[in-house]
Parts: sequence; structure tokens; C-alpha cells
Amino acid sequence: MPKAGIYIHMPFCRVKCMYCDFYSVADRDDQIPAFFDALLKEIDMCETDTSNWIIDTIFIGGGTPSLTPSHLLEKLIRTLERKFNLSQVNEFTMEANPGEAHADSLKAFRDLGVNRLSMGVQSLEPSLLQFLTRIHGPEEVFKTFDAARVAGFDNINCDLIFNIPGQTMDIWKRDLQTIIDLEPEHMSCYSLTVEEGTQLFQYVNRGKVAMPSDDDSAAFYEWTQDVLGNNGFDQYEISNWSKPELTCKHNLHYWEIDPYWAFGPSAHGFDGKNRFSNIRNLDGYIKNLGDGKLPRQDDYKLSDIDRTNEMIGFGLRIKNGIDITKIPEIHRSSVHQSIHENESKWGDYFILESDQLRLKAEGFAFADAIAVDLMID
Ligand code: SF4
Repeated sequence: MPKAGIYIHMPFCRVKCMYCDFYSVADRDDQIPAFFDALLKEIDMCETDTSNWIIDTIFIGGGTPSLTPSHLLEKLIRTLERKFNLSQVNEFTMEANPGEAHADSLKAFRDLGVNRLSMGVQSLEPSLLQFLTRIHGPEEVFKTFDAARVAGFDNINCDLIFNIPGQTMDIWKRDLQTIIDLEPEHMSCYSLTVEEGTQLFQYVNRGKVAMPSDDDSAAFYEWTQDVLGNNGFDQYEISNWSKPELTCKHNLHYWEIDPYWAFGPSAHGFDGKNRFSNIRNLDGYIKNLGDGKLPRQDDYKLSDIDRTNEMIGFGLRIKNGIDITKIPEIHRSSVHQSIHENESKWGDYFILESDQLRLKAEGFAFADAIAVDLMID
């Protein structure tokens, strides 16, 4: 039976951060009750047979899910329980922003079964937080982290960003070490990327902001790998490090191409054969469900080639790599051939042991380029 997860997208934020391309809306909190009505309806309308799935993770992402009133979270959980067998869920994550998850809410979330908190710290340097249009300062990070511990969260992730214009290596080293000293169980460290449709994209395009060079970016990443490794964190994915046994099992479902159901605007799901996504529009999402229609933007079956290339793309992101025996049989020899053809170009960065292909730590920085070269057509 496949292990599986459930993802809920909660699209409300206090402000829209200038670099963010997740679907979220600012200043629309008055719509939260209508959104929840639609969300519960979408869950009720799910007809897929998941009786042979072992659902072991739930992840509420966004947006800023910590803004969810606890009585609505409780309704959501009860609705999910009516539709899915949640008896084996052992990881239930909620994303939270510093200063936007108050002590009483955190306690209520914990009491409702949320057992992992993912905090969007991003930086501890006030000028960089301001550049990123984050609305919290470093003090809120410490307060929210402490409040989460008091509420009973013993599994906390901190998200941090490097490669921010104006961020020196000294600032990054200080911030990363300060967060390590808080002793979170998990760290996600991302390079700031310029995504189309964001304010940052416009600034860079108009020459108002210059991004750090590729060499600087590589130096940030290498140092991050070293310092986290030296502090007991295991790098199990390009951007993710955990203390032993505390990987994010939900995100591993994505990278290991397990099934997961997803609800909410812009949410993407996979039933084991088909991938689907919902529309990126709150009003359209609410209207569709009000009219009794699923708010789908896309729904397509994965071909064997798609699956093979996804296994290459996602598999190279994770420490365990790709189990070639799981690739559709018809394409296995092509994948072996492709690996062989790329040995002279990328062989220093990957290890092929019997049927397992994985990247060395120094190969993670090139994972996307290696994956593109290995993909078949
Ligand atoms: S708070 Fe998070 S989801 Fe909301 S806009 Fe900022 S980065 Fe995006």
C-alpha cells in the first residue's frame, strides 16, 4: 500500500512579500469564512478511493496558515476525518510566520493534533527583512519560536534565505548560527530566486536590483552545507537538513512520487496516476465550489515517460537518489544509457551503485542541470 499525504493550501497573508510566487492574497481576511466553506465542500466532493493509501502526513501550507482561527481548523480536521482514514497520520505540519502565530493559537493548533511547525524566518537582519518586505523583525522570530516550544511543538522547521542582494557572508553566517543555536529539528535553506510575476522580477528586470553573482551564490550554499553538517544536521534534500529521523515526511512524498491529495486554490495533487491542479484565484475557487464544481485548472495522466523524467528530476534532489528498478521497465535501459552518456560531463558529481543513482553533496548545486541532461524523450 502506498504511503500518502494530504496538502491544504490556505492562501491568506498579511502582505504579499516581494519575492513570493506562491498563490496568496493580502488584506482579504474577511474572506476566510467563505474560503473555509468552499474548502470543506471541496473535501466533501472528493470521490477518489483512498482506502488503499496509508495517509501518514498532513501539511497546511500557504499563504500564512497560522492566521487560521482554531475553530475553523477543527472543522477542517473533522471534515478530513469523515473522508479519509487519518488513523496513521504521524506528521501534521502547519506553516507559521514569526509574529503571526500567537501563543494561544499555537496551543490550540497543538491541541488539535498539529505536531510540526514550519516557521518562515528567512533572515534575522532587519534591513534584509525590510528588503524582502517581511513584516516581522528578529525579535518576533525568537518570541514565536519560544511560544511554539511552550505550546508543545518538539518538531520545528526554520526556513532561511541566502543569496539576498546586500546580504554579506558574515550576515549569513551570523543568522544561520543564531538559528542553529535555537536548536530547531529541521532547517530549510533556500537561495533567493527571481520568479516571474513577482515584484523582485520587475526590480531585477528594470535594473533596480542586482542579484548576487553565481560564485557568491555557490559560496553561500557550500558554507551552508558545511556548517549544518558540522552541527548534526543531515542534508537529505537540496535545500533541506534535519536532525536524525526528523526529515519532513510530507515533502518526501512529493520527491518520492507518492500519492497525495491536495485542496485549496493553486493546490497540486497526485492520485498515483493523474496529476491535477486547482485554479490560482480565490474568488474563482469559492465561486466554482459554490456552483458545485471542482475548481480544477488542470488534470492529466502521467505517461511512462513523464513518470520516468519525474523520477529523475525529483530523485536527484534527495540524498537517497533514484531507485532505477522503480522506473517503468520500458524506459530503464534508456535511463542507463543516458547515465552512461553523461558520465564524462557529470560523473564527478554522481554515484551509481547497482541500480541506485544519487548525487554527492557537491553535486546538489547542479542537480537541476544534471537532471535535464539525464531525462529521456
Ligand atoms: S508570507 Fe509567505 S506565502 Fe505569504 S507572501 Fe510572504 S512568502 Fe509568500
